Amino acid sequence: MSKPWALVTGASRGIGAAIARELAAAGHPVIVNYRSNEAAAVAVLNQIVANGGQAELACFDVTDPAATSAAIATWIEQGRNIGVIINNAGIAADAPFPSLTRQAWSSVISTSLDGFFNVTQPLVMPMARRRWGRIIAISSVSGITGNRGQVNYAAAKAGLIGAVKSLSKELGKRHITVNAVAPGLIDTEMIAEAPLEEIIRHIPLRRVGTSEEVAKLVRYLVSDDAAYITGQVISINGGLA
Ligand code: NDP
Repeated sequence: MSKPWALVTGASRGIGAAIARELAAAGHPVIVNYRSNEAAAVAVLNQIVANGGQAELACFDVTDPAATSAAIATWIEQGRNIGVIINNAGIAADAPFPSLTRQAWSSVISTSLDGFFNVTQPLVMPMARRRWGRIIAISSVSGITGNRGQVNYAAAKAGLIGAVKSLSKELGKRHITVNAVAPGLIDTEMIAEAPLEEIIRHIPLRRVGTSEEVAKLVRYLVSDDAAYITGQVISINGGLA
């Protein structure tokens, strides 16, 4: 039997791209969502196809309810079995709280939390009818411990943890697991400006993580081997917290 489709938001780069490649390698056809960077998204699609996988692109901004609904409505009309949702799209806009702008607050919260709602809510009932599913949100160590200069980001990522814990209680009886993955520092464009030397001194494993390491954890959580794991926050942070 063919595996269900996996929708990975923010899959044109970084962690999302690695998750898309990993789930495709596990046999899932993958929808590679991105917001603006089409060339990068096409490169991810080409890598998946070159490795014998199946993928297609979907350009929409997860904070835009109309655009997200339109994309999802098409798949629902087609009767497409989207059994895996990876809410990965996320942005950071760090600043000490006294100088944090309303725009930086809203955009970061909206990308994580409105994005989670806009993408996940319309797909839940079709998933529940099929009585199998995997929903994963990419949270962050910041959402667990908090972090200076990240009041907005930590609030967004902590919000995702509340969302997955609650949703796991609603969907468990339909064999749908809902979990959060909380990475520490992962080597992507998002941390390009971070003072890595200083930060690495506080990481017991003395290095940043890779997108592939996060993707392999997600692959496991999606697999049947992880069928009894739900409502959890799985950290992958080199011992940082
Ligand atoms: P990147 O900045 O490298 O990539 C972000 C991806 O998200 C891109 O594909 C981007 O698309 C997409 N994206 C951003 N906003 C939207 C939107 N509104 N709608 C659709 N797609 C969007 O980030 P990372 O790979 O580093 O991060 C991925 C996730 O992991 C994020 O949620 C992040 O918060 C989280 N995380 C990252 C950590 C790290 O150290 N890197 C640590 C902990 C958590 P496009 O290319 O089109 O702009």
